[in-house]
Amino acid sequence: MDEIGHFIDGARVAGTTSRTADIFNPATGQVTAKLSLADAAQLQSAVDAAKAAQPAWAATNPQRRARIFMKFVALLNDNMQELAEMLSAEHGKTIEDSKGDIVRGLEVCEFVIGIPHLMKSEFTEGAGPGIDMYSIRQPVGIGAGITPFNFPAMIPMWMFAPAIACGNAFILKPSERDPSVPMRLAELMMEAGLPKGILQVVNGDKETVDNLLQHPDISAVSFVGSTPIAAYVYAEATKHGKRAQTFGGAKNHMIIMPDADLDQAVDALIGAGYGSAGERCMAISVAVPVGAETADALIAKLIPKVESLKIGPATDLSADYGPVVTKAAQQKILGLIEQGVAEGAELKVDGRGFSMQGYEDGFFVGSCLFDHVTPDMEIYKQEIFGPVLSVVRAKNYEEALDLPMKHEYGNGVAIYTRDGDAARDFASRINIGMIGINVPIPTPLAYHSFGGWKRSSFGDLNQHGPDSIKFWTRVKTVTSRWPSGIKAGAEFSMPVMK
Ligand code: NAD
Repeated sequence: MDEIGHFIDGARVAGTTSRTADIFNPATGQVTAKLSLADAAQLQSAVDAAKAAQPAWAATNPQRRARIFMKFVALLNDNMQELAEMLSAEHGKTIEDSKGDIVRGLEVCEFVIGIPHLMKSEFTEGAGPGIDMYSIRQPVGIGAGITPFNFPAMIPMWMFAPAIACGNAFILKPSERDPSVPMRLAELMMEAGLPKGILQVVNGDKETVDNLLQHPDISAVSFVGSTPIAAYVYAEATKHGKRAQTFGGAKNHMIIMPDADLDQAVDALIGAGYGSAGERCMAISVAVPVGAETADALIAKLIPKVESLKIGPATDLSADYGPVVTKAAQQKILGLIEQGVAEGAELKVDGRGFSMQGYEDGFFVGSCLFDHVTPDMEIYKQEIFGPVLSVVRAKNYEEALDLPMKHEYGNGVAIYTRDGDAARDFASRINIGMIGINVPIPTPLAYHSFGGWKRSSFGDLNQHGPDSIKFWTRVKTVTSRWPSGIKAGAEFSMPVMK
């Protein structure tokens, strides 16, 4: 049985506590490793290493910091297959999907190779007589990241790449479900030339997170996970004087207008609804056809496609999606499907009885499709995070628009239409952070920023792109005047521009 410890001060170290968590292979249901859960003393050793290393790292010129990421990107590409297999073995998603998880993180590492340019600041010559004014961006010091199970490569990289490129030390607390890839990423960053102590991985659970949130030497916290924990982490981090950005759950709708290309919309719904077993914060979980005719045609086209989805372990290269992450996740999803049936939604494709031959103990969930779902049902209100698509019928555009507008989550949304005016009106009025126009999963690329609205996000700066440079740095503004102007004498009133 493998034992997974932590990555502290440039090396893998064993856990020092008796508290552990089981790591599963979700396809077989078997325990594959024991993960050590850190206590306050182990976190302290990471903070000590970070404090010792960070000043020299911040003083390293940004071109040299960028070169570490150039090398790291090359190493990610060289190790892509090994990383993808490691990721799939703990998460369950297909190997191709795992590669996508890694590549979407790699792209943020490519983005931060531009750090010499990204950290350039503002300068005003002659802000007053003989006075120059400039602002500079400096690293916050030690940053921490707490990440979810569903993107164990991408989301850690979304956080540590900009944090480290800006000159910070970074402590990652990855999901306790799939920590092996984050540990390997830290190793590869060392191989790329990163000094020890700048990227560390402290594994753990709530206790470890609470220790991070209370630690006086950690200045900024980034979190991605479910909404109740995102709200909690935001409140705790800010209560302890830290800068925080925390991202939560989602219920992403796709509106299908009567003029949409229905075949295109159906293909988009299949990929965005069932890919990665629905365990994506940008998954489409609600389809909103506008008008009864659109709804009937959509359902007729969806049913055979949902029925023919191929489910299998990640090692089956022809599988469309794999198991969900844990037995608890599987049971929660099945419970919500039961509730949907009990509440009166029509289960058009019933995946409840699905069992994978040869993998009977795996955490598989068959594909489900609900029609006639209404906003008062739990399957509409809650994030199911499984291979379940709900169809909510709307009479007209305004009724369709109203649904995502009134939902508590505001991560992503999509509209399928051929009408530019409808698309433009939709993008302008909707209260959601990321909008797709004939694009089902509008995840912004690395050089734009990622984040939702409403209860999908807490804090005011998003992930990656320009926002990430702002989040991981502090602004300092210098007003300077050189000797010739200094003899004017004391000024007692508020300085204003003369
Ligand atoms: P989770 O909230 O269970 O866990 C996320 C992290 O929080 C983990 O590192 C975990 O160890 C820690 N944690 C769990 N319980 C805690 C507690 N009580 N106190 C402190 N820390 C705690 O989320 P998950 O199941 O790993 O991930 C799935 C969720 O993440 C979904 O809701 C999904 O929508 C969301 N997500 C959001 C985004 C986004 O950008 N908005 C991206 C990916 C995933």
